[in-house]
Amino acid sequence: MTDVQIEKRLAQQKRSQERARQRQIEKQRSPEYRAKQREKQRATAERQRAKALANKDKQLEKARAQAKAQRTRAIERAELKGPNSPTRNKPIKFKGMAGKARTKSDMSLHDKLGQLGCICCINAGLIQPFSGSPVSIHHIRGRTITDAHKYVLPLCAWHHDTPVPQDSGVSSDIFPIHSKGSEGGRVRWEEVNGKQHLLLEQVMELVGEGHY
Ligand SMILES: [Zn+2]
Ligand SMILES: [Zn+2]
Repeated sequence: MTDVQIEKRLAQQKRSQERARQRQIEKQRSPEYRAKQREKQRATAERQRAKALANKDKQLEKARAQAKAQRTRAIERAELKGPNSPTRNKPIKFKGMAGKARTKSDMSLHDKLGQLGCICCINAGLIQPFSGSPVSIHHIRGRTITDAHKYVLPLCAWHHDTPVPQDSGVSSDIFPIHSKGSEGGRVRWEEVNGKQHLLLEQVMELVGEGHY
């Protein structure tokens, strides 16, 4: 190739590149192209939003699972603890705050009842006294009379206020004293478990508090 030929070839290349560049600029200016680009950007943003949301869901799910596992472990630990374990002396939960405030001696009594376990389950041979089963405090004479918090029984949920789940295979003799709908009820409860004032006497002896 002569110098002139090379010169010519280079000039051609340059023109061709320039034409390509012009075509590109025109394309970028065209409304169709711009619309397409906008659509692409929108789609990308949409994907990123969806991904962020999915991540958030995953993290929430994970946090929930962790909290649940923690609760399960805490319950298992509490169930393994004996009556003398310090962590067993948790305050006893009450349903609502209506009624007389508890005195220190009420609280000490309720703690002991909490450690004793459900008196009906003990009498039915389902648990041992002081074996660390959870109870709630049942008020025999309500919460407003004098010494209301001394007339109390430690009862498990099923003997107190929660119907046994259906088809659980649990004896039909276990039902709550507070009837919810057709289940439970005080009269039949006392037929099965004994009169409440007698249970109270038994409970007080078991925790070493004498008679009421
Ligand atoms: Zn019970
Ligand atoms: Zn009750």
